[in-house]
Amino acid sequence: MSVFSHPAYDNHEEVAFYHDAKSGLKAIIAVHNTNLGPALGGCRMWPYADDAEALNDVLRLSRGMTYKSAMSGLKLGGGKSVIIGDPRKQKTPELLHAMGDFLNTLGGRYITAEDSGTSVADMKIIGERSEFVSGVIAGQEHGGDPSPSTAYGVFVGLKAAAQHRWGREDLNGMKVSIQGVGNVGFRLAKLLKEAGAELFVTDIFQENIDRAVNELGATAVGADEIFDLDVDMFAPCALGAILNDKTIERLKVGAIAGAANNQLAEERHAQVLKERGILYTPDYVINAGGIIDVYYQQMGQAKGEYDADQVKAHIETIATTMHEVFERAEESGETTAHIADRVAEERFGHEDALNKSDSAAA
Ligand code: NAD
Repeated sequence: MSVFSHPAYDNHEEVAFYHDAKSGLKAIIAVHNTNLGPALGGCRMWPYADDAEALNDVLRLSRGMTYKSAMSGLKLGGGKSVIIGDPRKQKTPELLHAMGDFLNTLGGRYITAEDSGTSVADMKIIGERSEFVSGVIAGQEHGGDPSPSTAYGVFVGLKAAAQHRWGREDLNGMKVSIQGVGNVGFRLAKLLKEAGAELFVTDIFQENIDRAVNELGATAVGADEIFDLDVDMFAPCALGAILNDKTIERLKVGAIAGAANNQLAEERHAQVLKERGILYTPDYVINAGGIIDVYYQQMGQAKGEYDADQVKAHIETIATTMHEVFERAEESGETTAHIADRVAEERFGHEDALNKSDSAAA
């Protein structure tokens, strides 16, 4: 298994491996870039088939965090950690404490948060050993869960997309389909309902569908049927790689704006969407509400405060960033995904971006 020549290495500043024999912890921390500040990113616990799969995941996710934070205007770099193991069977307080010890070895260059397989409660346990954990502020309305902020950011970004695509200032009567009405999707559905949109939802859990139908008057559709609907916008809020060769040709929507990470199966699918006249809202830009929230939790921790209005105002800047991406994409003829990467690289000072702008200026 190579590290420096790994296809996903992409100039990572640091990749650290840790083993604690007593608790059984095997973990990797990847710090992609700290030009803008300490690297913040979640800690994922997953029963990876092998070390190579874990390394690939942490490198890919860590790089993504640099782009997401830079795009959100946060003074943060990008990083991520993975714990190799089954969270239902192998997660113990001892293992989480060992993870805290691991965090301490990086001296604050990386700050962790919850992710798949870890929870806010786990972060509290890691926090007994390390200060480099995004905090849970006592009395805070949502107890540290970033989902409400993610949903609000998606709502703001979706409105920006509607404005750009159709010149619409409101969502009244707009038909929106949502794939996955879980933590983020359901909250997004609620905000859309309040804004007058008509909702079409699917999920693999019947109780989640029932909640959206009963509480929000949404129309339930089949898990596969979601791609064929004659609606205005599609909000993927379930899983990644959902925009692929099979699904894109079925979509009849004018715009896509949702929370799921890594929605494009491959980079080239951004171009396929563009050719089909579908406005794609880059996932890491629109779903950044959560990281913005976590940032303010972390910053507020030292002062013992968390200003919800300040967080909300910052999340609303997603609309400004979205408009910049849409406009630059239109002017240049490039895809929105490509332009988002360029804007992020300009913001965190990626060498390639600097070289590109140098040669463009020459
Ligand atoms: P969640 O697990 O609470 O919700 C996902 C929902 O999708 C669940 O209800 C699940 O049953 C459903 N689902 C799974 N597979 C499906 C399928 N094939 N068809 C239809 N529904 C399906 O997760 P979440 O926290 O709401 O996150 C949703 C997405 O947003 C994920 O991709 C996540 O990575 C991303 N995201 C979340 C946050 C956050 O703050 N929670 C932040 C950024 C990105």
